[in-house]
Amino acid sequence: MNQLSKTADVAIIGGGVIGLAVARALALRGVREVLLIERDSLGAESSSAAAGMLAPQAEANRAHEFFYLTCKSRDMYPAFAAALLEETGIDIELDTTGTLYLAFTEHDAEELQKRYEWQTEAGLPIDKLSATAVRQLEPAINEDVRLALKFPLDTQVENRRLITALSAANELLGVRLETGTAVTRLEIQRNRVTGIETSRGFVATDSVVIAACAWSALLVAGDKALPDPRIKPVRGQMLCFQPNLPLTRHVIYSPRGYIVPRRDGRLLAGSTTESAGFEKQVTAQGVHSILTSALEISPRIASLPLTDSWSGLRPRAADTLPVLGRCAEIAGVYYATGHYRNGILLAPITGELIAAAVVDKEFPSDLSIFSPDRFGMVAVG
Ligand SMILES: Cc1cc2nc3c(=O)[nH]c(=O)nc-3n(C[C@H](O)[C@H](O)[C@H](O)COP(=O)(O)OP(=O)(O)OC[C@H]3O[C@@H](n4cnc5c(N)ncnc54)[C@H](O)[C@@H]3O)c2cc1C
Repeated sequence: MNQLSKTADVAIIGGGVIGLAVARALALRGVREVLLIERDSLGAESSSAAAGMLAPQAEANRAHEFFYLTCKSRDMYPAFAAALLEETGIDIELDTTGTLYLAFTEHDAEELQKRYEWQTEAGLPIDKLSATAVRQLEPAINEDVRLALKFPLDTQVENRRLITALSAANELLGVRLETGTAVTRLEIQRNRVTGIETSRGFVATDSVVIAACAWSALLVAGDKALPDPRIKPVRGQMLCFQPNLPLTRHVIYSPRGYIVPRRDGRLLAGSTTESAGFEKQVTAQGVHSILTSALEISPRIASLPLTDSWSGLRPRAADTLPVLGRCAEIAGVYYATGHYRNGILLAPITGELIAAAVVDKEFPSDLSIFSPDRFGMVAVG
């Protein structure tokens, strides 16, 4: 292992898609000494566990700042994917087939009707499909389906290829990616960050970006106070099937789960939403609930070989919104975390917003609801 450098212009804590997207955006803005510190391997946690859906419209019940942020980031993906391909030769498999949302009960149908109405009124692209029409589009769908919505702009990426592409892009840009290295403490003097203590020594820096997912709230600063983003891990389990032939072309949701066809032939099914601390098991109950919702979407899944399963921890802040931007109380500390169910979706815009905050000291005032200061400060020594 090389010597850890003793200084950095910006140090980023966490090497998931968020830390990697921020690092790349900083390097593209000309920051010379960008250091990313990851205690495990790049993408080892939530970013590898995800389903890769870029589906803000499918998941939204109303228009608000968070919804517009997610749509903006989704719409950045074609250029983001093209840039990564150009920079690294790696295709992140942005699939633009679109997303379907199915109703099986009267209550499901009422909810989908509401979603259809507000999104139509807001001028968003959305189609309502009869049971016959959606089964013509995807014959493997359960014949009990009542109606469906199609979100043509909601797409997906192969999130593990995204990690590989972002890592390669950072290496080519000269970002120092230090894996197997844990940050143990932030050094703060007179309300300003001056460095980070790591498992391989001290790094002096006046800018630190916290992108440590569910572990962000565990970072300490000696006896000094940090914002308390009150981020908790929320476990999500996933199953992976291997059909001989593709079962569906679209990402397909119901109110109880989703299935995601991958370009390499795998079919993912998810997920659970559990408070289980930092335990990453796949449980009998989790498998049961995912199978139940997947079989409701397509009974044909019953005969597919189940080839893999895993779980990951989503970072959820107390109000479920991301935690983005600079910390007002401690100069030089920035947060890029709390992305909960949408970290893959929000990676491009998070990279841009945080890089602009660090380099240009700019952050859009209409995004202040995501400020790390909204939770108040706590002494966490
Ligand atoms: C089952 C499941 C399905 C999901 N599906 C989707 C989806 O379809 N679409 C979507 O947009 N999002 C999805 N998500 C959410 C998404 O995965 C997360 O929001 C996103 O990956 C968060 O990225 P991150 O970089 O903040 O976190 P991570 O990928 O967890 O990266 C944080 C890194 O910080 C490191 N770290 C922590 N503490 C320290 C320390 N002290 N020192 C050094 N390193 C440290 C960790 O080792 C980790 O690698 C899903 C999540 C799960 C679990």
